[in-house]
Amino acid sequence: RSTRDYQQLDAAHHIHAFVDQKALNAEGPRVMVRGEGLHLWDNDGKRYLDGMSGLWCTNLGYGRKDLAAAASRQLEQLPYYNMFFHTTHPAVVELSEQLFSLLPSHYSHAVYTNSGSEANEVLIRTVRRYWQILGKPQKKVMIGRWNGYHGSTLASTALGGMKFMHEMGGLIPDIAHIDEPYWFAAGGELSPAEFGRRCALQLEEKILELGAENVAAFIAEPFQGAGGMIFPPQSYWPEIQRICRQYDVLLCADEVIGGFGRTGEWFAHQHFGFQPDTLSIAKGLTSGYIPMGGLVLSKRIAEVLVEQGGVYAHGLTYSGHPVAAAVAIANIKALRDEGVVERVKVDTGPYLQQCLREVFAGHPLIGEIQGSGLVAALQFSEDPASRKRFANETDLTWRCRSIGFDNGLIIRATGGRMIMAPALVATRTDLDELVSKTKLAVDQTAREIGVL
Ligand code: PLP
Repeated sequence: RSTRDYQQLDAAHHIHAFVDQKALNAEGPRVMVRGEGLHLWDNDGKRYLDGMSGLWCTNLGYGRKDLAAAASRQLEQLPYYNMFFHTTHPAVVELSEQLFSLLPSHYSHAVYTNSGSEANEVLIRTVRRYWQILGKPQKKVMIGRWNGYHGSTLASTALGGMKFMHEMGGLIPDIAHIDEPYWFAAGGELSPAEFGRRCALQLEEKILELGAENVAAFIAEPFQGAGGMIFPPQSYWPEIQRICRQYDVLLCADEVIGGFGRTGEWFAHQHFGFQPDTLSIAKGLTSGYIPMGGLVLSKRIAEVLVEQGGVYAHGLTYSGHPVAAAVAIANIKALRDEGVVERVKVDTGPYLQQCLREVFAGHPLIGEIQGSGLVAALQFSEDPASRKRFANETDLTWRCRSIGFDNGLIIRATGGRMIMAPALVATRTDLDELVSKTKLAVDQTAREIGVL
């Protein structure tokens, strides 16, 4: 079929996520047909370097035969069974054995889902249930952050802080928000360390305003992904942890993007050195090959649910789906046995971060370079010295992204930031291609507005 055919059918039947549908239909989406390693090919044979691992998820890259074989074997052996009532199956049990062998020993239980959004739905219900069992049913407010992203269902949208998503309405009550720790934009005269502490103290102020007896949990991404790949200052997480412990508020990390090696640690909270009570996971759990997510619980929470909770009134038909579990097992084994996460930590991660700093330090369009491991952001700035942002920064970053696309590069534009998160199997050669194509796109954007 021709690309035009696909585009016309696509326009006739689909509403795409987070894009102006009419404008997309006029332009026509790119039709991706094949992937290998970090590269994708469209229906016309054009090759792209995927600098975003799809949606931050194909951690092992494309074309893994071991993952396909694991799915195929499981499809033949036992394509479906469930964890309702009194049954389980080997795939999900062995997945948990693998998963908890990666995690610190204070985590013990998981509730599996099909997506990250659902993981956060489970989180809200489970956290509220935990406090009910402990005789504190009024402790039910969840605090999230403005510009955080936790999914697209009603509850996960409410938990997130994307105001343009809130406008669709229908959100759940008992959610509050504090500001994001975005120093470049909001730090003013404060040092990053002072600003990080200031942002964390907002949590304390919010808890006191709501009454600690009403606050169930605080949730955040260890580094903010969809909100612009924002790394908080080092001072932020220790202070947040101190506040959560002091007021008996559960600390919930959304590891949907940060989990499974992105920063060079298995989980992003390990990179920042704090200890959450729950972890929401998805994406890298299966390298995106098949939908799967989950909520990981600490022993403290699990013990209460198991020993005192009675019936856990929550279930999904596909929770712990055997085929997804089989793919997740193969994925975790490959990430570990091939030393993928370790390589991100000691080799490819530092290499990418160093290359970006060498190439973009002093660039007239770039005010900040952030990242660790294989995730990074370039902040556009009208005057990098004073951290002035462009009034039309979103237009500029989307222009940069589109130049990249035309040159066979996929990177992401969010607000004033260009984001990259390549597959964790990236070689130095792949990363050289990523950096040089990004440079080309940023330079052309700079030339178009006359600053280069
Ligand atoms: N949490 C975070 C941090 C995410 O980035 C996302 C998706 O991008 C989600 C949750 C939602 O995951 P899903 O799209 O699988 O529902």
